[in-house]
Amino acid sequence: MSELHLNLIAGQWVGAEDTSENRNPSDPSDLIGVYASGGADDVARAAAAAATAQTAWFEGGPQPRADLLDRIASMIEARAQEIGTMLAREEGKILPEALAETRRAAQIFRFYAGEALRVAGEALPSVRPQVDIEILRAPLGVVGLITPWNFPIAIPAWKIAPALAYGNAVVFKPADLTPGTAHLLAQIIHQAGCPAGVFNLVMGSGARVGATLVADPQISGISFTGSVPTGRGIARAAAETMKKVQLEMGGKNPMVVLDDADLPLAVAACLNGAFFSTGQRCTASSRLIVQAGIHDAFVAELSRQMQALRVGPALAEGSQIGPVVSAAQLQGNLRYVALARDEGCTVIGGDALGGTGYFQSPALFLGADPAMRVAQEEIFGPCAAVIKVDDFDQALTVANDSAFGLSAGICTGSLRHARAFKHGVKAGMVMVNLPTAGVDYHVPFGGTKGSSHGAREQGRHAVEFYTTVKTSYSYA
Ligand code: NAP
Repeated sequence: MSELHLNLIAGQWVGAEDTSENRNPSDPSDLIGVYASGGADDVARAAAAAATAQTAWFEGGPQPRADLLDRIASMIEARAQEIGTMLAREEGKILPEALAETRRAAQIFRFYAGEALRVAGEALPSVRPQVDIEILRAPLGVVGLITPWNFPIAIPAWKIAPALAYGNAVVFKPADLTPGTAHLLAQIIHQAGCPAGVFNLVMGSGARVGATLVADPQISGISFTGSVPTGRGIARAAAETMKKVQLEMGGKNPMVVLDDADLPLAVAACLNGAFFSTGQRCTASSRLIVQAGIHDAFVAELSRQMQALRVGPALAEGSQIGPVVSAAQLQGNLRYVALARDEGCTVIGGDALGGTGYFQSPALFLGADPAMRVAQEEIFGPCAAVIKVDDFDQALTVANDSAFGLSAGICTGSLRHARAFKHGVKAGMVMVNLPTAGVDYHVPFGGTKGSSHGAREQGRHAVEFYTTVKTSYSYA
């Protein structure tokens, strides 16, 4: 029998009324661990502990907060191999990508260690003589952080680190599929000396733990990353208690390839953007919008390189694409492959590969029309629709023909078209001659339209969500 991994509430490791398991998508017979699966009582206790601990955490000043984040960063670095291996084993990301994500989490904590000490206020003159105005930043209070499985340490890091840096207390609910990485991170935060109650881990299902967190009146803000339907429900529920919400959701990210693109560079950008991390990235290039003059050469080279990608177990040396995260996700991807055929596309790849795990060959849907469901809906797997266009103007129109607006890219040698794309595309992040996926950790992350709602994540912009503004007038 595996050891039961517990929740962390008020500085104590505690069990819950239920348990859940995480299994290895490269080989589901590999049971990784058993985890406490909490409920409404656990959320209420964690939120109360956080509310009690938050005032002292903020009033202790920024130096202890900076020191804690710095220690967490060092401890993540020291245990990177262990964390990366857990991440690869439970999520299916190949080990080099899992290790890179783990190191990035350490960089994020280090970045916010510095931010904790940055003066975040403003001083202004008043219209009245002898009155000074200060615009102060106050922490939000207790924040609930709800994260998906596809970046199980980077996304928690870019929520937990700014939350703590700016003086908030945290209740963290990780995805049910990836509790192992979250638990290792919680161990580190605890061992690094985080005061009791300032950081709480409540593992459990979205329906029980997530929904209760959103409803809890002790919590002032919810930062959520996940799918659009869940995000929409959270926004509605959070309105009942007037919580601040930050929602980071899906994408159907366009990558435009113009006739004057550098062909090898465009193919490399699309291969990476569409298929790496098994296409399970919100920023994946899932719509390839290709100008007619380069279309055939581009498709021939991209499909050649795509078919040469080695799909295999996440921890096996030489694997370039790991498994899909779960049986349900694989079935969903395969339904979209069938739909692509039904909608009239020529499909290359996209087969279930059998073997020990949830393996699928990457897929291109050729001859896609912008209105097709496979060109509009987020699949969240290694599948990209290829849409042929006549010129730049049509490419931009197609790129903007989406309910999403997260990331967008263009491959071109033309400065004029690159500039027009940067300014004309409706997306939160724009890439020129780079994959739509792959972002730095110290600059704003987020989108427009159905992809994001609320303040941006990451970088210095995170202060907008994790603090409130207080305007102070003083007369002397
Ligand atoms: P999901 O099903 O929406 O789940 C995300 C989180 O919400 C999980 O922790 C989930 O718990 C929880 N949850 C589910 N129902 C809930 C409810 N009623 N109330 C509160 N919380 C609830 O998304 P996913 O499948 O994990 O992740 C894939 C999606 O995330 C994709 O759409 C992808 O594009 C998006 N994503 C966006 C970004 C971004 O920054 N824009 C980054 C990464 C991923 P359980 O795990 O227990 O279900």
